[in-house]
Amino acid sequence: MQAAEYRATHREELAAKQRAYLAAHPEIAAAYYERNKVRIAARAAERYQKNKATRVEYSCRYRAEHPETVKAHNDRWHADHHEEELEVGRRYYAKNADKLNHKNSKWRRDNRGAIRLREARYRAEHSEEVQIWRRNGRARKMQAPGEYTIAEWRALLVLWDHCCAYCGREIKKTHTRQPWTATQDHIVPLIRGGWNCGLNIVPACNSCNVQKNSKLLSEWFAEGE
Ligand SMILES: [Zn+2]
Repeated sequence: MQAAEYRATHREELAAKQRAYLAAHPEIAAAYYERNKVRIAARAAERYQKNKATRVEYSCRYRAEHPETVKAHNDRWHADHHEEELEVGRRYYAKNADKLNHKNSKWRRDNRGAIRLREARYRAEHSEEVQIWRRNGRARKMQAPGEYTIAEWRALLVLWDHCCAYCGREIKKTHTRQPWTATQDHIVPLIRGGWNCGLNIVPACNSCNVQKNSKLLSEWFAEGE
């Protein structure tokens, strides 16, 4: 009874002593751990479960009250672990490719209508991006060097005052191809070895682009003479 009382009143002190003793005798600590592994794990799990609700609640409240801090922290974490995350994703995909493909195709089958609608809406809202994305893809397939971005394309339009570089008429972004639709013309066509980059691109109306086709400027101008 006395011993129990002593232990109860000197809990901190005893725990510190025990910690110091185990730190000085790691082999004893290891043996103790080995002997009581199951019990230790069970106690840790129990503690975890007991405090889970409080911790989750605290974490939710903190997140709600400090959105900026949380966002900054997350951004930094993702930036620091970008490669790792990619690697984890790749490994996960490789391991579960069959399952994921199956799940994905089932999902696509079940939601065909909604997907088609969403894709059509995306294409309509991002027609320029889609156009550039497609053209970059085609250029890659042709193994043409270079790539250009939507920002470069927009800068080119400003540089040319939103007019066709060949006939000078005003060109506009449209969803369907019209004679005045703004298109990207490769001055030296990709098929003739031209680069797929901003230096080799000018804004052209669709009709000039179609007429020029895969000709060099000199060839196209010679035709008109
Ligand atoms: Zn034109």
